Formats: sequence, C-alpha cells, structure tokens
Amino acid sequence: MTFRQAAWDEPLIYELSEGRRGLTFNGMNRRFKEILGDVRVPEELRRSSEPQLPELSEVEVVRHFTRLSESSYGVDNGPVPLGSCTMKYNPKEALRVAFDESLQLLHPLIPDEYVQGLLEALYRLQEWLASITGMDICTLAPAAGAQGEFSGVAIIHRYHELKGQRQLKTEIIVPDSAHGTNPASAAMGGFKVVEIPTAEDGNMDYEAFRAALSERTAGLMLTNPSTLGLFEQHIFDIAKDVHSVDGLLYYDGANLNGILGRARPGDMGFDIAHLNIHKTFSSPHGGGGPGAGPVCVKDRPVKDGITLRDLLPGPIIVYDEGSKLYRVSWPGSNSAGLIRFGIGNVPQLLWAFVYIASLGPQGLREVGEVSVINTNYFIARLLRETKGYSVPYGPERPRKHEAVISAEPLLNETGISAEDVAKALLDRGFYAPTIYFPLIVKEALMVELTESETKENIDRYVDALKEIEEMARRDPDLLRRAPTNTSVGRVDTVKANHPRFVTPTYRVARLRQQGKQLILR
Ligand SMILES: *Cc1c(COP(=O)(O)O)cnc(C)c1O
Repeated sequence: MTFRQAAWDEPLIYELSEGRRGLTFNGMNRRFKEILGDVRVPEELRRSSEPQLPELSEVEVVRHFTRLSESSYGVDNGPVPLGSCTMKYNPKEALRVAFDESLQLLHPLIPDEYVQGLLEALYRLQEWLASITGMDICTLAPAAGAQGEFSGVAIIHRYHELKGQRQLKTEIIVPDSAHGTNPASAAMGGFKVVEIPTAEDGNMDYEAFRAALSERTAGLMLTNPSTLGLFEQHIFDIAKDVHSVDGLLYYDGANLNGILGRARPGDMGFDIAHLNIHKTFSSPHGGGGPGAGPVCVKDRPVKDGITLRDLLPGPIIVYDEGSKLYRVSWPGSNSAGLIRFGIGNVPQLLWAFVYIASLGPQGLREVGEVSVINTNYFIARLLRETKGYSVPYGPERPRKHEAVISAEPLLNETGISAEDVAKALLDRGFYAPTIYFPLIVKEALMVELTESETKENIDRYVDALKEIEEMARRDPDLLRRAPTNTSVGRVDTVKANHPRFVTPTYRVARLRQQGKQLILR
C-alpha cells in the first residue's frame, strides 16, 4: 500500500472569507432567548466594535476544515507508535458519552443535587483508579500528568512542612531516564533535583542512588516501567531506602499501561501516583490538551491523625450515607493547596469511566499484556532482521509497553540519522516515533505500539524500517529529502521554531499590514 497524503494548499479561513458575508444569527438569538430569557448585557460590558470574525457559509466552513483534516494525520488514519505518549485508539462509544450535550451545558458550579448521575460515575472512577493502582484515594482534579506531578511535589512539600522538617528536606531524587516534567516539577516545587544515572542493565544505578540518599532527601520520583520500557527490578529495596530517611516515593504513572492488571504501584511501596487518563485510559490527546492527571495517595500517616489523604490538592467525590447523595468534598486546611478550579476535566474522566467499565478487570489486564507482546514481537523481528538498529540498556531484557531503539549503527555506517529515519517513516504511512528521547540513548527512536495495533501493522512497520535501512545504504540522499508523500515536506527545523513561521496570527497580522480589511460588510 502506497501512502499518499492530501496536499491542499489551504488558505487561512480569514483569507477565504474576504468580501463575504456568513450566516445571520436570528434563529440562534431566538433559541438563546428561550433558554436564558431576556438577557440584557450592561452598557459598560458591550463591545464597541464588531468582532473580527471570518464569515463563510456553513458548507464552505465544513469544506475548509475537512481539507485541513485530510492534510493531518492521527490515530484514525494509521498507526501512531509515538513512544512515551501511549497513542492508542480512542473508542467511539466513549466519545459518545464524553461529548453528550447534556454534559456540555452543565455549569461548573452546579449544585451536587442536580448532577448525581455524573458524580456517581466520577465516584466509581475514583474507586476504580485507587484499586487499579493499589492506592487508597484519588483526586480527579489535575488536568495533565505534569500537573499531577506538580500536585505530588506539593504533597511532598506539605508532608515535610507539617512534620516541621521542610528546612531539612531540600532534595528530590530523579533518575536520568525520567521525563523532563519530573525534574521540572520538583524544581518548581522548590526542591533541588538530584539526578541518578541509569545502569547498563537499564535499572536506576542502585549504588549511585544509595550514595545520593540522605536525610536531605524529601522524595524520589520514579517511572515504572521506565521510559526505556523496563521494569525497575530494585523497586522494593528502593522503597524501603526512601522510607528509611522519611522520604516519599512518587510514581509517574504515564507508563502504567505496561503493567495494567498485573502489578500495582501501591504494592511496590509508592506513596503518591499520578495517572495519565489520555495515555493509559484512551482519551484523545488534543494539541497539548485537555488531558486529565488524577493523583492517588496511600493513607500514610503524617502526624496527629492527619494522613496523606488530607494533603490532596483537589476535591474528592464522597458518598454521604445520611442524605444518600454523592458530594464534592473540597480539601481542608491541611491540604497542599488547590491545584486548579473544579473537579477535573469531566469529559476526559467520563471517557476513562466508559473505557474501564467496558473492559472490566480481565479486559484491562489484556490491554497491558497485548501492549507488552506487541512491543517484544516488534523488537524480536527488528533485531533479527536488521543491523542498523540496536536496543541499548539490557537488550536481552524483555520490554514492557515500549522500546527505545538506537539508529546509531545506521548513522555510523551510512550517515542517516534517527531524524531521517523518522521522516522516511512518514512517507510510508506511519507517524514518526518519538526521537532523541530519552536523552540517555543516542539516536533514539522510541516506539510504543500499544494494544491497538494488529500484527499486520507491526510487520509493516518493521518492513518499513528494513526498507529504510536498505535505502540508507543505496541512496541516502533520497532519505534526506523525505518526507515527500505528506502534505508538508521536510521543514527547516530552525526556521520552523521561529514564531514568525509557526503562528497563523502572523499571517493575519501580515494581511492587516498590507492594508487588507479582514471583514468586509
Ligand atoms: C507524558 C508523560 C508525562 C507528562 O504527562 P502530560 O500528561 O503530558 O503532562 C510525564 N512522564 C512521562 C513518563 C510521560 O510519558
């Protein structure tokens, strides 16, 4: 199958609408009046000029966005084996529930009594997530993994503050294979980041960790399985060590899908964990958001009857036996603070609710198992049939849900880099893998197939990598020009990062500069 992407040279919607008049709002105004009554906007709040909006007929708008969507690539077009991101299929039955109109019209401050169904669903999700992670209680509030991490660091800070030892506890330990958000969250929380190297076998270097551990250690942030797709084999010892200096163990749950239904962070000794709903639990990643990053904790004692539960920086949903009502319970004075407004990104959370409900415990376990089988099948074939790619760090160890391969042998032999390989994969109908991450692997190509991909697609992917390797030997210049079958060819990566070239606002500003009126009436 030859991959070809539509190549629309689509103008901005502002340019399309020049000199045109779109729809009128009479019908809609009537509908608003029916819903809201006769609303009068106070004089001082009314705008003085017309909004600068594009105006097109409905069908032209639909065509414009359809053309844009044809020039785009997503998990509905083909495989997106983007390591670390867990780009799995987004089941449409979950979409139906998450985007139900009755939800979209809800006000964030609606009284609990009016949304009992919604609160019950969120309550159950909260319980399921606690049981899946082996933790005691979760708040659904954080909007992403990174915000979950920051919440976790805030909990670590508050824990030591309440125990009167925050002055002493200044350091958070993070292995060098971690996602960049880990050290960033720790630093934003006011901690010094102590980085631990990765050992040859892919585990965190246990001796280096022991040497770094001290009474200054406030906590350790660990991703298990790691970004290398490897299970941390010293986890029980590490947990004991961190607790021996009264530190807290934080679980970065972005890779939970690799052990889903098989192992639980709570049983490994973790105190705090975030989950990425938009990774493990299949809700879509949309242009950087919105996501959901629930944070779960163990009921670990802090002092005077206070436990980590009281430190959660977001509300929890509770069931009140007396009134037989589900209620939103807001954090009290011992909390680490409020991470954001509201109970969480509700559509994303409902998505996870439907996903978990439809799979059940057995299905969830299969999600983890199939993602692991897919990864290991992929590596086995790749290593057997190619020479240009290697698997650094414990190559003999089975991977979990993802694998980091290195194109260094290919680069040394042919001059073709991981970036060239990634671009060439685009031409063959695959979204590129994550490249040059984690930083500890040279010429890294990070591949995560998830449970969504079929054996045929994995075989096609390996075949594509093989073909690219052969072409690198035969005609490397052809590869340096890739991609050529996509809507957009190879961009100058330096220029592409200049704001002048990335923001459409620039093009609007340019039109304005040229004296063109955007909206003509
Ligand atoms: C994605 C990811 C994060 C950050 O999560 P976001 O939801 O993107 O903020 C943190 N750690 C790891 C290992 C990740 O893969």
